[in-house]
Amino acid sequence: MVSRVIPVDDFDLVIFGGTGDLARRKILPGLFRRFCSGQMPAQSRIIGAARSELSDAAFRRDIKAALEEFLPKDSFSAKEVKAFLDQLHYVRIDATGTEGWGALKKLVRNDKDTIQAFYFSVAPSLFGDLAERLHTNKIAGPGARIVVEKPFGRDLGSAKKLNSTLRDHFDESQIYRIDHYLGKETVQNLMAVRFGNMLFEPLWNAQYVDHVQITVAETVGVGGRGAYYDKSGAMRDMVQNHLMQLLCLIAMEPPSHFDPDAVRDEKLKVIRALDPPKRDDIVRGQYESATDGKGYLEEVESNDSITESFIAMKLAISNWRWAGVPFYLRTGKRMKARTSEISIVFKETPHSIFDKDSGRHRNILSIRLQPNEGITLGVTIKEPGPGGMRLVDVPLDMTFADALGPEAEGVPDAYERLIMDVIRGNQTLFMRGDEVEAAWSWTDPIIEDWTRRGERPKPYDVGTTGPEDAAVLMHREGRRWLDIKA
Ligand code: NAD
Repeated sequence: MVSRVIPVDDFDLVIFGGTGDLARRKILPGLFRRFCSGQMPAQSRIIGAARSELSDAAFRRDIKAALEEFLPKDSFSAKEVKAFLDQLHYVRIDATGTEGWGALKKLVRNDKDTIQAFYFSVAPSLFGDLAERLHTNKIAGPGARIVVEKPFGRDLGSAKKLNSTLRDHFDESQIYRIDHYLGKETVQNLMAVRFGNMLFEPLWNAQYVDHVQITVAETVGVGGRGAYYDKSGAMRDMVQNHLMQLLCLIAMEPPSHFDPDAVRDEKLKVIRALDPPKRDDIVRGQYESATDGKGYLEEVESNDSITESFIAMKLAISNWRWAGVPFYLRTGKRMKARTSEISIVFKETPHSIFDKDSGRHRNILSIRLQPNEGITLGVTIKEPGPGGMRLVDVPLDMTFADALGPEAEGVPDAYERLIMDVIRGNQTLFMRGDEVEAAWSWTDPIIEDWTRRGERPKPYDVGTTGPEDAAVLMHREGRRWLDIKA
């Protein structure tokens, strides 16, 4: 199988925050991989814009070091690096002042043949300043695109304000709100599996699905991000955006076309159909460590923080398709393994023709986002050999690396794909403003309730699956969480 790489049209991409962590770790290595695959036109330019005083040469040296640090050794040649760096430029800029804007205007092409993209890889407090200055300095043409990073607000009020500030200068069709989970190969494959096969969609409803589980588990703690994280917590940092987006893709009705507004309209309907969860359908946790002195409170240097580093919840979607089907979401830090997985757990057969000893079995469709992206369908078969009809569950495995061989190596990572989608002008995998606001409308009352009551999260030991109560959330209904496996 030969992968098809279609070069994008000529572009100028400005990365505000081009010297920052995200740009060095994800954005520029991603662009470099697209460059190596032949997707980036030779005349296109990437312009780093940040606060540091740097020459083009110094910026290129820094990015060369970043490529060496963040990409696998031997995955590129010195010739490729040099050719890529030649397309890089740098402008020192002050997002809140006047410095650098004249130089940027001179550098960025503003003509009908060049796509302009501006990546806001800076603190969200600067988004408004950047949007305004791009506009007032007449740098951004009518077709320019802006890319904004998470977090998109910290509640409904701030998200609305941010949307309104950006829309003062840019149309919604120009705004690309990144959620990198949506750029993952498996997430797109989820849509291919659901809507490209006759097999699954007829079963994708309350008649056949018992429940859905979405787990995003990390092994890392808050580390150096403690100050930011402590003001945020798992609900704001993970549930409101990433888990909510995954839930929408699983639960949405089939859109009429795979196009941006058709898909986003359906996702929005899911968020609007979410019931407010009951208090006892939510478990919040905070990690503790008896061994390494890096419990949550030590890491955020607080004695009394009530921010959650873990959350498990049972959600209900009030519509015909999902009436009575619980969606269980869980995410946390310092858990036993790093994994992101969605599992659709189907109901048992209505009647078993086999004797009791053969047990009851059910199909589980698991969509694994990381590590080892792939999709597995658990099916029940006869255990081979003599000894009567014994049943066993085996996986029908669609791990990309196995199915596609070396081709899977060339699968772009989330950032690569999303940046190329920006250049192509395809917003399907980006959140629309109303989706973000609807998600905050749903999360705000829950967070306000905890805050009002000063609810303390339940402690859990590092390296586990979270507080015991999270297991109880399932057990009380005769269900259990699937294991968290790396
Ligand atoms: P960072 O602190 O490492 O880098 C910030 C960048 O902004 C630097 O290049 C700095 O020079 C520039 N900058 C700061 N103030 C400026 C000003 N007044 N004018 C011009 N440039 C200025 O931050 P980061 O970790 O790269 O994060 C950037 C954005 O991406 C943030 O919104 C963050 O929430 C988001 N984000 C980061 C990550 C990550 O893994 N780092 C992940 C998801 C989202």
